[in-house]
Amino acid sequence: MSPSHPSRRAVLGASVLALGAASSSEAAPADAYVLRNVRLETGYDHDAEGVSATRTGLFDVRIASGRIAAVSPTGAPLPAEAKAYDAQGLLMLPAFRDMHIHLDKTFYGDPWVAPRVKHGIPGQIAIEQRLEPGMLAGVEVHAERLVRLCQSRGTTFARSQCNVDPVIGTGNLVRLKQALDRLAPTFGHEIVAFPQHGLVSAHVESLMREAMTLGATHVGGIDPTAVDGGMERSVDTVLQIAHDFKAPIDMHLHEPGPSGIAAIKRIAARVDQEPSLKGRVTFSHCFCLEALSEAEAKDMAALMAQAGMSVASTVPMGPAVMPIPALLDAGVPVYTGTDTVVDFWGVFGQCDVLLRAWTACQIYGWKDELSISQSLRLATGGPTPLSVTGEQLWPKAGDPAHVVLVRAACSAEAVARMPPRDCVIHAGRLAHGVMPGTARA
Ligand SMILES: [Zn+2]
Repeated sequence: MSPSHPSRRAVLGASVLALGAASSSEAAPADAYVLRNVRLETGYDHDAEGVSATRTGLFDVRIASGRIAAVSPTGAPLPAEAKAYDAQGLLMLPAFRDMHIHLDKTFYGDPWVAPRVKHGIPGQIAIEQRLEPGMLAGVEVHAERLVRLCQSRGTTFARSQCNVDPVIGTGNLVRLKQALDRLAPTFGHEIVAFPQHGLVSAHVESLMREAMTLGATHVGGIDPTAVDGGMERSVDTVLQIAHDFKAPIDMHLHEPGPSGIAAIKRIAARVDQEPSLKGRVTFSHCFCLEALSEAEAKDMAALMAQAGMSVASTVPMGPAVMPIPALLDAGVPVYTGTDTVVDFWGVFGQCDVLLRAWTACQIYGWKDELSISQSLRLATGGPTPLSVTGEQLWPKAGDPAHVVLVRAACSAEAVARMPPRDCVIHAGRLAHGVMPGTARA
């Protein structure tokens, strides 16, 4: 495949097109505009060995009221008043979603802090308990910095974990919510009330309930056996809070082995009794799946799919391997996220979920055009421009206008080469970069 990328000068130097051809007398919403000459994927070419190339074409994409209003082959006449930007062949992809990040605790933007030797989760929690009070005042500023970093990577939505613990109470949550509400025009969010120091063991059930009234969208949990001191009581407390607030669950499950599996099975059994929970439980990390045999992983994936459970993974590169292909094959939604960016838990986060898709391709041997192309779903939280069979799925009229424009020929090239995210749009509004055809100031 030979991408015919426009030169950077051509894109940045062009001015916004003034389009004179009128085809409609309908009044357009004030925020309406058209992205002209956008590259969209239209199908896969095949040969005897399978997918041989991704087909693309140039389209005009009309955006209005935060949504994609229409997609048409490029060159069709536009209303006289239409504001238009010439994308000159940039590839349009669904904006990315970071489904596991801790926006409330980070040193990002501050001077480097030397990482210290780790002493397991209890040791890390002890460090956190010392540092939290001094970090409280900076939660909003730090969260906004991380959101800007996310946006620069093409991400316009995050599910943020947020500490609810005996040291900080709901202090982080109140501040994080203020920051995210302020950023909402160009960044969507969910907030998980996360009992990092334990739920039952740290006696924070009432704080968790307070967090749900203060705007947390998900009930969190943490290693029911390894941290919270008892699987059944811990899991049941999470389930009860979720039931009372009619809220979905996102549980940190680092603990390996049978105790982690037991927690998943207990929640799956509850989903059976309470079908309203179906599709509303995510396990973050879920390392307990790593030790399973291929057959066991397949069985667990089937159980989780049946319960509508999802997994949020950082696609870890350790000696053990997460059975992400088995989960996807079974129909379990697999999301990716950054987790930590730079803080006392870790310093390697890049806020780039496209890098997670790239990493997955390396780990799982996804080396052909189709596999690389479809791995994009790990970065977008699901949507891909094409189905596995090459049917055009995205974008459609009515979809939210959350998009990224990149210098790539197709999804596979975007994952493999990870180009800069030239223009990032959320709900029709510019979240990062410049509108195509607009000179950078
Ligand atoms: Zn986490």
